[in-house]
Amino acid sequence: VIADAGLYSASDQIIVLSPDNVDSVLFSSSAALLVEFYATWCGHCVAFSTVWKSLARDIKEWKPAVDLAAIDCADEKNRPVCIRFGITGYPSLKFFPAYSSNTTQGREFQGFPRDVRGLRHHIIDKLEMRDQMWPPACPPLEAASEAEIDSFFQTNSVKHLALVFEKKNSYVGREVTLDLLQYENIAVRRVLDTETSLVSRFNVTDFPSCYLYNSSGSISRLKVLNEARVFYSYALQRLPGVVRTGKMKTPIIDLIKNSTEEEWRPFNKTRVYMSDLESALHYSLRVELAAHVTITGADLTALKKYINVLATYFSGRPSVKSALKAVDSWLQEQEGTEIKYSDFRDVLDSVGETSDAVLPEGVQWVGCQGSQARYRGYPCSVWNLFHVLTVQAKEIDDSDPLEVLQAMRGYVKSFFGCRPCATHFESMAQENMNKVTSLSDAVLWLWSQHNRVNNRLAGDLSEDPHFPKIQWPPPELCPNCHSVKWTGEHSWNREEVSAFLQNYFSSDRILSDYLQ
Ligand code: FAD
Repeated sequence: VIADAGLYSASDQIIVLSPDNVDSVLFSSSAALLVEFYATWCGHCVAFSTVWKSLARDIKEWKPAVDLAAIDCADEKNRPVCIRFGITGYPSLKFFPAYSSNTTQGREFQGFPRDVRGLRHHIIDKLEMRDQMWPPACPPLEAASEAEIDSFFQTNSVKHLALVFEKKNSYVGREVTLDLLQYENIAVRRVLDTETSLVSRFNVTDFPSCYLYNSSGSISRLKVLNEARVFYSYALQRLPGVVRTGKMKTPIIDLIKNSTEEEWRPFNKTRVYMSDLESALHYSLRVELAAHVTITGADLTALKKYINVLATYFSGRPSVKSALKAVDSWLQEQEGTEIKYSDFRDVLDSVGETSDAVLPEGVQWVGCQGSQARYRGYPCSVWNLFHVLTVQAKEIDDSDPLEVLQAMRGYVKSFFGCRPCATHFESMAQENMNKVTSLSDAVLWLWSQHNRVNNRLAGDLSEDPHFPKIQWPPPELCPNCHSVKWTGEHSWNREEVSAFLQNYFSSDRILSDYLQ
């Protein structure tokens, strides 16, 4: 289920409460819960829902310590729940500490702020209140003393200790601590500027600033573009040896080892590989489509558009381009209302008989290799393929801005084997794809939808622990894409992102030497 009748759905990283789940969610939880009680007909609630969704995205890493929920009090079936909690106005927020008893009414958030940053700070204040159970998964948030830091490695076996030096009223250290709580091999503590002996031992001059301290006693300053929460978290989550907890762990030596049958091939994580794109084509045309014995109606239209877009914009090896063009010519000539997949396949396999056209058989993941066979591979290559196509359409520059996106939408809707993915993607397309009015918009639209998916999947079981889902591109890949507002909040510089994508997915940057 993606869409709920109310303002939220589980894909917003928000627990949707109902009479059936309210007790189990609120009262047997090892995490604290912050619940929004709202009514769908209340305009303020609708306006606030964008903040609540942004907050959920912003603090999704905090879930084991504090999670967000919402309940629609306008829905008659939910009325008894809202009455039970004494809700008289909307939106109302209530905080339920970890292991709350089922007699509690929750703690009202009076006069709560209407922005993500303010709410985040309020949550930390509530978590830190002393008269309640501490969520077991929540690391200490209070400032560390010198003695605690000196004895840290005697009692903890982590590889890195990150120290955020900051002033008393700053929340950055606590936010970064929570951002990293699902990661292993790293701990974060805040240290106040008044801890003068540590400040001088580490030579700290800026507040905030972040230092890495390891068990051998070495100290180094964390290099970041901006001394702000998101930049610290990005950098720390990606340190060598740091992986998300609770996932299959594979040993990390210099190069990550995979445990698939295939030998791990070294690759550059910051490049696109032709081998992945060709593997996507093979899998899509020979495996995924093969599930459809006959292709008719909207599916046939979708297939024609998809193949046509590939034939027009895929700038791969000449032999592959020829193969796509040959298949496209055949397909566009089919005037009936249906085709048999076997006929399509015959054409695909025989195009080389009279020319050098060929679509290589089999898959060889390079940039899309996973650390286990079940991770990455095909879906990774599908994203890459369509990013490349949106960028290549822009390189040609006189095409319909929606052409590639419509082709992707049609393909995903009709054929993409992961059906829940297809439903999600279709609902995102329905939401705002029609706002795309230029080829640059198309490139950015796909980028931002991909980031929405990344956001939804961060920490999901399908996530390869060695390739955590991040808001992409990270600062080390595109420093100028990122900036901070005066409040210290992160923001994307969309013009820079656009330029970056244009270069990153451009045809002349795609690596064909698989070992580069
Ligand atoms: P991927 O997300 O596949 O990304 C591949 C590469 O693209 C990354 O390594 C990175 O180099 C680059 N990249 C990352 N983010 C961006 C960005 N914002 N813009 C441009 N490039 C980027 N899985 C589910 O479990 N549920 C779903 O609902 C779901 N929906 C999907 C919808 C579509 C249309 C597709 C193609 C896939 C979907 N998947 C879904 C699969 C999921 O998104 C990943 O593809 C899969 O988990 C493999 O992840 P990955 O680590 O290889 O990175």
